[in-house]
Amino acid sequence: MPAAHATATRSTLTHLECSRTGTRYAPDQLMNLSPASGKPLLARYDLAAAAVTMTPAALATRPQTMWRYEEVLPVRRADAIISLGEGWTPLVHAERLGARIGCPQTYIKDESLNPTGSFKARGLSAAVSRAYELGATRLAIPSAGNAAGAMSAYAAAAGLRADVFMPADVPRLFRTECEQLGATVTLVNGLITDCGVKVREGIPVHGWFDVSTLREPYRIEGKKTMGYELAEQMGWRLPDVIIYPTGGGTGLVGMWKAFREMECMGLIGPKRPRMVSVQSTGCAPIVRAFEQGDEFAEPWQGAATVADGLRVPAAIGDFLILEALRASGGTAIAVTDQEMLDYARVMGSHTGIFPAPEGAACLAAQVRLLQQGWIQPEETVVLFNTGSGLKYAHLWG
Ligand SMILES: *Cc1c(COP(=O)(O)O)cnc(C)c1O
Repeated sequence: MPAAHATATRSTLTHLECSRTGTRYAPDQLMNLSPASGKPLLARYDLAAAAVTMTPAALATRPQTMWRYEEVLPVRRADAIISLGEGWTPLVHAERLGARIGCPQTYIKDESLNPTGSFKARGLSAAVSRAYELGATRLAIPSAGNAAGAMSAYAAAAGLRADVFMPADVPRLFRTECEQLGATVTLVNGLITDCGVKVREGIPVHGWFDVSTLREPYRIEGKKTMGYELAEQMGWRLPDVIIYPTGGGTGLVGMWKAFREMECMGLIGPKRPRMVSVQSTGCAPIVRAFEQGDEFAEPWQGAATVADGLRVPAAIGDFLILEALRASGGTAIAVTDQEMLDYARVMGSHTGIFPAPEGAACLAAQVRLLQQGWIQPEETVVLFNTGSGLKYAHLWG
């Protein structure tokens, strides 16, 4: 256990807030969903205080990880930060790709360079650190792939026990990764939602802390750093359009939260990117709800896609995703698995980045939105390559 006199971070965390009712909770206790509504809890900060020290000039001298934004992250003790070097990934100006598709200002935020090869590292670095700080000893997670690997890695770094529940048909490498990182893996006949049920059944028996996305308040805090980084890397401006492959939506909701925080801190103005959710035609609950004008998304029946990160039939933060898409003037679009495979090669051969199918889905969506005139050729567009194609060796033939 860390010493009581350990160095404090500059975190300005003040409270947790129910995303539905606004009810406030003291932040220094392990919590999952909001007791007021059964919906996600969101972390709130003293942004006026954060703005004093988290200036562009101060940031320029800080470590090149997501923890450079410590004022707006939840961990209070420096020795509780469990870091493997996550974040501060490259924002690549994809000039050859942009020329090929007729959109010269196309950028790729290449999240495949994170520890464990996906952006899940950000969320789990934050969540595992905070759970460790608050005294959790055993962590459990339902995951269709990358989240489990990231959780296993940070649990191993912290010396915490990790229990992982994965769909039985998860590609072998995702499972091997967890095992090699010391986690206990249980395969479940079903989808990620069924794995989540197994985790919740085990909590009273094993005393696990559930780190399912948006069921604890801090994975979103890790993922929101993508929004801070994007702004910082673009000189405190934001692009016209962000295209994001959406499963649980944590990163999209997180970036949307980050933009508001940054505006409150005076780091950016009121202009927002149009946010685009991409899903697979085999699992598109957010696209359907967006098109129908619904506030919540009906669970998708028979979810099937090669993009494991997008195989999320029901997202607990559905209303937060839909709210961000609508408030930004954005949209939601489904692409086929075949388009993902085809565009993975287009992206790879024009950029040098070997994307996960989820990353390729963003390019497929961009091309369609350019054809439809929804994106103008001169606009600045950021695609998120959320993971490495190397982890999907089974797909490429
Ligand atoms: C988890 C995952 C996603 C979806 O991320 P959310 O923030 O949960 O919507 C996209 N791509 C990859 C590679 C993933 O692992």
